[in-house]
Amino acid sequence: MAADEGSQGSAIGTALLALGDRWNLLILQRAFVLHTRRFGDWRDQLGLSESTLAARLKEMVAAGLFERVPYDDNGRSRDEYRMTPRALELWNLLLAIWGWEQTALAAVEDAPVLMHDVCGGALNPVLGCGVCGTAGITARDTRAERGAQAEFARISVPRLHRRAQEPSGPIDPMSYYPETMAILGDRWSTAILAAAFLGIRRFNAFKAELGIAQSILSDRLRRFVAEGVLHEPDEAGEYRLTSKGMAFFPVYAVLVDWAQRWYGGDAADELTISHVACGNRLQPVLLCSECGGQLTRKSVHFDLRGSA
Ligand SMILES: [Zn+2]
Ligand SMILES: [Zn+2]
Repeated sequence: MAADEGSQGSAIGTALLALGDRWNLLILQRAFVLHTRRFGDWRDQLGLSESTLAARLKEMVAAGLFERVPYDDNGRSRDEYRMTPRALELWNLLLAIWGWEQTALAAVEDAPVLMHDVCGGALNPVLGCGVCGTAGITARDTRAERGAQAEFARISVPRLHRRAQEPSGPIDPMSYYPETMAILGDRWSTAILAAAFLGIRRFNAFKAELGIAQSILSDRLRRFVAEGVLHEPDEAGEYRLTSKGMAFFPVYAVLVDWAQRWYGGDAADELTISHVACGNRLQPVLLCSECGGQLTRKSVHFDLRGSA
């Protein structure tokens, strides 16, 4: 593992190191939805190799997402992995991802339905401002500011895993969409999209901000255009987010908020997203599209329709 992992990076860089991997996201998702805690259960549910699973769990323990707790397995002591409070807060990130998939991407047959136990409705999560209560916050309702010393290059992260060597992950209705994995399953892609939400539009500006190799940047921008997340560059050479890319904003807002709270330290290093209308720092909350109530981890559940 690279020596510069963790505390030296920006809060978002550190969060991406913990989360920006397709397997890490799937491991967390199974922990939330199926309450998976044991090594063999993840291995069987996800069909990944034991060495990959062991490496990912080790990373996630180091990042403070899981803690190992011993249990008795017919006289043998084994460890299970319990989500920490830091990881438990990620339920709204998973909900925001699910919401993006349902609203911006093509529907998948037998996709799980998200139920709000308070109103009984099948819902889509709506981003709200936790301070003033406004519902339906979009990127255009916000302003992002970087602290004086927030070197955006520090979002960049070592490439710990090579994409080409990894299997694509399980294909079932619970899995993330390929478009989701193309963004969140790849740390460079997430960093590029984060930069786009900060208003960065030109190839050289992305390159300078992210300290990213030209070939990787070209490849990721090409993919974003192919997937309809970014428009083709205009005559000024600017890449702009499409409506599908803009619809990713709730995921980004929730991720930035979580990263700052759990991995942030130095205020000068912060990235602040404000809600322009009320002037406060955006505290992202997810609201029920049916009753408007604020969603909590325990007030929602996925109806898997027997698919899992
Ligand atoms: Zn507000
Ligand atoms: Zn509701």
